[in-house]
Amino acid sequence: MKNTDKYEKVIELGRRRGFFWPSYEIYGGAGGFLDFGPAGVALKRKIENKWRDFFLKRHGFLEIETPIITPEKIFRASGHVEHFKDPMIECKICKRVFRADHLLRDLGVKNTESMTLTELRNEFETRGTVCPECGGQLLEPRHMQTMFQTTIGPYTEAIAYGRPEAAQGIFVNFRRLFEVAREQFPIGVGQVGHALRNEISPRQGPIRLREFTIMEFEFFFDPEEPQCPLLKDVQDVEVRVIPIQSRKEKSEEPLQMSLRDAVDRKVILVEWMAYFMGLSQQFIGELGIPQDKQRFLEKLPSERAHYSAQTFDQEIYLDRWGWTEISGHAYRTSYDLSRHMDQSGVDNRVFRPYPRPVEVEEKRLVPDVDAIRKTFGDDFPKVMELVGTVDQGLLEDALTKKGSYEIDGFTITQNHVKAKTLKRKETGKRIVPHVVEPSFGADRLVYSAMEYAYSIKEDRVVLGLPKDIAPFQVVVLPLLKKSDLVEKANKIYRMLLEAKIDTYCDEVGSIGRRYARADEIGVPLAVTVDYETLTDGTLTVRHRDTWKQVRIGQTNLISHTWDFFDSK
Ligand code: AMP
Repeated sequence: MKNTDKYEKVIELGRRRGFFWPSYEIYGGAGGFLDFGPAGVALKRKIENKWRDFFLKRHGFLEIETPIITPEKIFRASGHVEHFKDPMIECKICKRVFRADHLLRDLGVKNTESMTLTELRNEFETRGTVCPECGGQLLEPRHMQTMFQTTIGPYTEAIAYGRPEAAQGIFVNFRRLFEVAREQFPIGVGQVGHALRNEISPRQGPIRLREFTIMEFEFFFDPEEPQCPLLKDVQDVEVRVIPIQSRKEKSEEPLQMSLRDAVDRKVILVEWMAYFMGLSQQFIGELGIPQDKQRFLEKLPSERAHYSAQTFDQEIYLDRWGWTEISGHAYRTSYDLSRHMDQSGVDNRVFRPYPRPVEVEEKRLVPDVDAIRKTFGDDFPKVMELVGTVDQGLLEDALTKKGSYEIDGFTITQNHVKAKTLKRKETGKRIVPHVVEPSFGADRLVYSAMEYAYSIKEDRVVLGLPKDIAPFQVVVLPLLKKSDLVEKANKIYRMLLEAKIDTYCDEVGSIGRRYARADEIGVPLAVTVDYETLTDGTLTVRHRDTWKQVRIGQTNLISHTWDFFDSK
């Protein structure tokens, strides 16, 4: 592995400038956990808010927040207890454990994610692979359940899991949310929050964590009306796709096609999914990652999650890790809502009105008045009501199979009912919505935006983050650490804060060092307060990307800043 690649540099910068570092460092650390410092939190919040604007707000989607700890029932219903597992392999000698498919992938084997345990074992055997740490013999590969398990309260039987995705919090609330949204349909619901995955051997820093922030939304639509009216706005956008077909032909070369083409050629099965993939490409582009460093890889059926009928991973190219997933786009069909409907008994169907009511004919068994009066005498009204309201299916079934049906102690036979064809108007029908889900990891995006923003200018690091996600917009710098300059700088700092401009003040070190520090944090504008500021109210604004300085009046500072951030 190269040791001076961009990964190394970004990790070093992250630590030095307070973006992020491994958690619990003073106790030797715990793999797969990351702390975010002030600059990292600010950058992450900006990315999360940009995601909210980009996907939720512009479409009027709802955002909710649900717990991380989730009772076992929910993940049994959703299929996670059964399916959320990864293959692992242990060294007989040093006892280290590796993710079996990743170990082979790192050795250049293709499509390892879709291999069964037997296929993995055969591959290890034919290659004679040994432990990468100590050279020892590797044991049989086996599966490990990768949800964190706990119990709720003191009851050992009250098993619960840390959620590995935020989606189930949305599915279990679907009925309520649908009502809250006044039955608006189609409907999108998003959630940003921590997810837990007990990854087998996370050795990729911020890329593979055991606790990370997931940003996902579920878009619920009618499978019989799958058209996306918004697709036309992005249909000419070109995407680079590696469909299953190419992968089967052993080609990883992306095909360039418009979203319209991708839908027409059935490369992407659902229009809404194509639309969101187009937006995702733009979103990632606006984080500073160019289109030719992005692609969509379709997952093979054996690689897809259990709930998905089609999945694309949106991947970007990272210097050390190569093509890396930054978002997953899954067509979850009605899988989750149907399973929760089954297990909880809550009706997750949505009423879909027809454009015009339709007349339907229905065969029913209706009470035969004369026959019932004759048999039941005084009980006639009661039996009439019972037969009129009984479940038709049960009645028909019993009469065909046994020739009679017991209700409340009355025996109903074939001659108490007559078959009749009734006509009625049907105004619509109930359907279980289908779902497409785009799912992003915020931590990977923080890292990826930093890697793409990382540049060296005249031997100095400049983090050229897109200005709308830069952790801070402005830094205020008194030229010297003299009380009159510091006091004035503080006034300007507070003025900017009041104007809702993300600002910090830095008075430590030479002005050159402070400019360099601001460049490393990616602050687009640095405002310097000097002696002229005290006399004529002017100050210097230095731009991160050009290092050009302009002198402006203090009264124009806020409008100058707004103009700068509003411009493209
Ligand atoms: P998935 O549900 O596996 O498609 O994950 C959705 C997104 O979450 C991925 O595209 C990643 O950006 C992110 N993600 C998944 N697993 C991890 C992890 N272990 N650490 C950090 N981010 C992750």
